[in-house]
Amino acid sequence: MLNIAGMSKLSTVDWPGNLSMTLFLQGCPWRCNYCHNSDILDPSVPGEISFEEDVLPFLESRVGLLDAVVFSGGEPTLQSNDEDGGELLQAIRRVRAFIDKTTGKPAFKIGLHSAGAYTNRLKIILRELDWIGFDVKAPVGMYDKITNIKGSDLVGMRSLQTVLQEQEFRKNTDRPLSVTFRTTIDPTVMSNDDVKRLVKQLSEKGIDNLVLQDVRTIGSPADYPAKFAKATGQNIEEVMR
Ligand code: SF4
Repeated sequence: MLNIAGMSKLSTVDWPGNLSMTLFLQGCPWRCNYCHNSDILDPSVPGEISFEEDVLPFLESRVGLLDAVVFSGGEPTLQSNDEDGGELLQAIRRVRAFIDKTTGKPAFKIGLHSAGAYTNRLKIILRELDWIGFDVKAPVGMYDKITNIKGSDLVGMRSLQTVLQEQEFRKNTDRPLSVTFRTTIDPTVMSNDDVKRLVKQLSEKGIDNLVLQDVRTIGSPADYPAKFAKATGQNIEEVMR
């Protein structure tokens, strides 16, 4: 059973350019300094949304009205596995099975937010996606300063490479994979030079459209807003506003 912490019934921002429903899946193996969903990281906590009873009936009522469903988190691939894609893949296939009778085509495109914490699982899930918003945490050599997990550099870069390979494989097919690479700039650990290094590293891989995002301190771990305020020279009231 997919463990869903929450859902947004209508989002214009989770997959830019699309009206989407977003599912926030419980659990993530990383612990990013600024994570704005820090209260849903523990995978053992049961979510409050039922895929069968809440999500599927809602989607049935939104055929023709929504463009897409975005699986977000947490890290959604935590609810997959290396063999058959697990609960996540099953859920994606259930969503894709909705057909818009006016077009005869799948009613909803499928998007995923991932930082690539599980490369093999991501590889399986990628085949089912129309779009991925892939979080590049930092330049190589700095990942663990953001994720607080040793070795996350390696797995993050392996996953990034896997996304590029899938994108290349589906180029010029009738179902290309659309990708947005994005990085949240954490001013408590990243300098302007680090950002430039990241842009250069990605550009060497052919990625020239990295989206840079500001940290949102709302929902972040309790000690983060004060660190953010210190790093940016703001007072804590401004940061919490
Ligand atoms: S990878 Fe995403 S969900 Fe996981 S801790 Fe980092 S910001 Fe939060």
